Order: sequence, then structure tokens, then C-alpha cells
Amino acid sequence: MRNKVLLVTFFLIIACIVQGRTDINLTGKLVKVSDGDTFTILENRQTHKIRLYGIDTPERRQNFGNKARQFTAGLVWRQNVRVVEHGTDRYGRIIGMVYVDDVCVNEELVKQGLAWVYPPYCTLPICDAWTVLEAAARDQKLGLWGQSAPIAPWNFRRSEKHVADVSAMKQRRSPEDGYLGNQNSLVFHQSGCRNYRCINCVIPFPTRQAAIENGFRPCGECAP
Ligand SMILES: [Zn+2]
Repeated sequence: MRNKVLLVTFFLIIACIVQGRTDINLTGKLVKVSDGDTFTILENRQTHKIRLYGIDTPERRQNFGNKARQFTAGLVWRQNVRVVEHGTDRYGRIIGMVYVDDVCVNEELVKQGLAWVYPPYCTLPICDAWTVLEAAARDQKLGLWGQSAPIAPWNFRRSEKHVADVSAMKQRRSPEDGYLGNQNSLVFHQSGCRNYRCINCVIPFPTRQAAIENGFRPCGECAP
């Protein structure tokens, strides 16, 4: 079974390389690396922002974010960067499979433990091979997998957004209304409770019922 997986992986990776020789949509030189998975190239005096297909590297504010960025920069710096396009994303970036010589940059990041396969956005057959490579990197504790509990970048972005939303909401909200749930203890308080603005009380609920439906228990003290 294991051998079969390896064999399939091998052929998929070869397929990735062959595609990198034949189906090129864009060839350019690096202008700027924004992130491990995002950079800008110049072709015929036109710049194109490229987002690597099917993977997600740690945000720069996360551990290994800078490592991933440096690794990508090292691969594509002063090289002819070849891109096979797979559409564009909502920011107008070209989603691409990227090649430098015979190296598939997307794949290399996964192999080195510097990127996660990004499940909802990785649907090509090659993604199966990348999942095997990711598991191998995880086994060897390569790169970000050396951490005890690495946080997937999409979860990191969501938690950052959540914190921003909640602080905006707290600012808008008058102290008299609403309920706040403690994200650790899953207890919720009503305004006026001395625990209402505790450090982990960051989950707002419009009504008591909403809090209960989301699995929160009323505080024993303020008895909302
Ligand atoms: Zn309370």
C-alpha cells in the first residue's frame, strides 16, 4: 500500500514537472516577494502578482512566516520564473503553479515543511501527491512541523479577524447591552458583571438564548 502511494506520488510529481515545461502562460523575473506564497513578477514591462496554487504558507506574523518568505525568495530570485495559470483569486492575483528550472515552487515549499496543502483550494490530482509530501515533512518534523502545535494560516487569519471584529463591536456597543462569552470557560456574562470584560470574554451574543444555543453556560454570579 505504502509503495503504491509512493509510486503514484512519483508519477504525479513527474506530471507536475512536465506541465512546467509545456503549459507555461507567463515567464518573468521576480520584482518582489510579499509572502511565502505570494510574489510579483515582471513580464514585458507588466507586473503580475502571483499566488501559489493549492498551498498556504504561514503569515509573516506567524512562526516560520519569514522563513517561508526567504525560502521562496531564494528559489525565484534572479531566475526565470515560469507560471502555469489556474485562474485568479478575489484580489486579482494570478493563481499559479510556479516553476524555476525543474523545481515546482509550490511543491518544494510543502516538501520542506514550509507550507500547508490548502485543502479547499487544492483539487488537482497533484494535490494527492502533495498531501503525501506534507505527511512526510510532518513525520520528519521539518520546518513548521517542528512546532508542537502549528497553527494553520487560514485559522490564524480567522482568529485575527475575529479579534478585530470583537474589538470593533466592543467599541460600538454601549456597556448596557449584550452578552459576552468567555472563549476558554464557555461561561457567558451580561453587562454589568465584574467579569463582563474579562480577557477571554470576547465572544459577543445578542441574546441570552444565542449564547446558550452556542454551548455557553450562564455565569453563576451575574446569572444572565
Ligand atoms: Zn458574570
